[in-house]
Amino acid sequence: MIKMEGVSKSYSTGTPALNNVSLHIRKGEFVFIVGDSGSGKSTLIKLLLRELTPTEGRIVVNKYELNKLKRRKIPKFRRNIGVVFQDFRLLKDRNVYENVAFAQRVVETPTRQIRKNVPAMLSLVGLAEKYKAKPKQLSGGEQQRVALARALVNNPPILLADEPTGNLDPRNSWEIMKLLEEINKRGTTVLVVTHNREIVNAMRKRVITVKKGIIVSDEEKGEYIDED
Ligand code: ADP
Repeated sequence: MIKMEGVSKSYSTGTPALNNVSLHIRKGEFVFIVGDSGSGKSTLIKLLLRELTPTEGRIVVNKYELNKLKRRKIPKFRRNIGVVFQDFRLLKDRNVYENVAFAQRVVETPTRQIRKNVPAMLSLVGLAEKYKAKPKQLSGGEQQRVALARALVNNPPILLADEPTGNLDPRNSWEIMKLLEEINKRGTTVLVVTHNREIVNAMRKRVITVKKGIIVSDEEKGEYIDED
């Protein structure tokens, strides 16, 4: 599903943000990406989303050869990856239903279909009853669930979560993680960038550790490795 071969990215002269990174993530995997601030995680994500191009190396995402991808094909490519962020990034003046429906309107889904898909997604994330609420009327955990529904409503094969629990208390963090696990069990390949040691250690998933632009560890049923 995701392949990086010998990928390096330098922003300017100096140490590269990523240095000769190779990794392979198969369809249906659940993977944590961990590492200190400045280790290269955001750079990795931006490369996968084709917001950046590598200085060296090859990247393939769901059969798209990103090095060869034409600029006009980028929007269609991005539909392969649902993304959620630490800060939710919801439309503040729209209600829950509209926030999720918006993602479907962008890809020109027929209204009849949207009316089916949005409530189904909101049920999946446990927010069917709150469809009329505005983001500020929701807790952080609920807002993140709306963001998840929005990321998934177009049925992308990959979900990328960038610090999804960064603004949540432990209880809500766990609820979001359980949801991500559920989504993964339904077949979506899930990548989670996180600093949440407790969750990483409890979930026993594959853990890729990045340090100074290099993958220093890649373990099935791994743990959060201490920086030293
Ligand atoms: P992380 O997401 O793990 O905190 P980043 O990928 O943001 O790490 O950063 C990796 C390295 O690249 C850091 O040394 C950072 O300072 C540098 N870097 C990130 N973005 C830029 C940029 N736009 N211009 C120059 N250097 C950058």
